[in-house]
Amino acid sequence: MTERADIIVVGAGIMGCSIAYHLSERQAGQIVVLERDRIARGSTAAAAGGVRLQFSTATNIELSKRSMDVWENFEELFGTEIGLHQHGYLLLLTDDEQVPVFQENLRLQQTLDVPARWLSPDDVRALNPAVRTDDVIGATFCPRDGWCDPYSATMGFAGAARRNGVDIRQDSQVTSILRDGDRITGVEIGDDVIEADLVILCTGPHTSFVARTANVEIPIQPFRRMSFTTKPFPDVPSTIPFTVEFARGLYVHPEGPGFLFGMGDPDEPSSLNDTVDDAWMMTTIEALCDRFPPFINAAVHTGWAGFYEITPDDNPALGYVDDVDGLIVAAGFSGHGFMQGPAIGTCIAELVLDGEARAVDITAFSPGRFNEGRLAQERNVI
Ligand SMILES: Cc1cc2nc3c(=O)[nH]c(=O)nc-3n(C[C@H](O)[C@H](O)[C@H](O)COP(=O)(O)OP(=O)(O)OC[C@H]3O[C@@H](n4cnc5c(N)ncnc54)[C@H](O)[C@@H]3O)c2cc1C
Repeated sequence: MTERADIIVVGAGIMGCSIAYHLSERQAGQIVVLERDRIARGSTAAAAGGVRLQFSTATNIELSKRSMDVWENFEELFGTEIGLHQHGYLLLLTDDEQVPVFQENLRLQQTLDVPARWLSPDDVRALNPAVRTDDVIGATFCPRDGWCDPYSATMGFAGAARRNGVDIRQDSQVTSILRDGDRITGVEIGDDVIEADLVILCTGPHTSFVARTANVEIPIQPFRRMSFTTKPFPDVPSTIPFTVEFARGLYVHPEGPGFLFGMGDPDEPSSLNDTVDDAWMMTTIEALCDRFPPFINAAVHTGWAGFYEITPDDNPALGYVDDVDGLIVAAGFSGHGFMQGPAIGTCIAELVLDGEARAVDITAFSPGRFNEGRLAQERNVI
């Protein structure tokens, strides 16, 4: 069967749903979203839900600010409760070399009206009494940061997109992006074809594989990351911020009656293995109890694995792909994509309809930068 659409969005994670919604708000034409699984089952399902303004590049700070305005008003805008908790992000620093870097980040953030500030170890203990601070040099803290529920947020965008007439098809795997010379002509879903002049790839950690079907190289690699929750645990106050020991990439935040925690394994190679590794869970628990001693009495409730979608500079490939007409990519958010979903939707809709993103200048993240060696390194990667 051959059909036609104006715009095809591939992938129904936070990016695909937000982009489809923002395009439909501006009556961009007939939009079809194709999802090989179900809505919000990819990386988005695995996210710890963190939303923060504390980044090291102006583009990320602006994308997060724009998104935070939406997270703070999501229920009013979309009629969906997303459980936003603005307890702040507390970034603990234990290495001397981190201090000048984070103080420079802080200066940039403050210039861009982010209410982040420097904290002493005493200030840290006042905010989170569970932290062992003997080797903590200092910390940065932004009270506007926090976390919310990625599944509800994505369903909020998906529902609003559908109400605007977007056709979201689940269990629909794109097997090939179709290309005629330098022009994209549509996609194949097995034996079926949908023709379109514009295809937007929102395929998260799978993007390099999908793009390759059109002979396009996008350097995004999947890396397994695991998160765990504790059973109800009253020994640590449920008011603590999203607390991160930056050196080990160890994080914890309240989640329901317990806590959610995780840590990345820097030595694990890229793979599509999404099983929970019990050995890494034990390593993570040891690190948790080392930095936050009261957790020695907590019991693990559950755990899961998903993928970070990592690029060479820990920033996304965002915008039109060079040398081929009609292909946009919005992927490779390197572990901080959920929080930026709202702004990315606005920016990509503007790029399509106005020729450039106006809400935030995203040219620093253009996909062509990887070939040009023009990297835009983000330093605040957890
Ligand atoms: C453990 C963990 C914790 C994280 N914590 C945070 C956090 O606290 N804050 C934060 O902002 N981010 C966090 N992230 C990162 C965040 O989850 C991602 O950056 C974000 O969800 C990416 O969204 P996406 O829509 O680009 O990708 P995805 O959610 O992966 O969506 C891509 C979709 O494309 C579909 N797809 C792929 N190939 C095809 C195809 N051929 N045809 C059709 N559909 C296809 C997939 O099924 C998937 O649904 C975390 C990630 C992990 C793994």
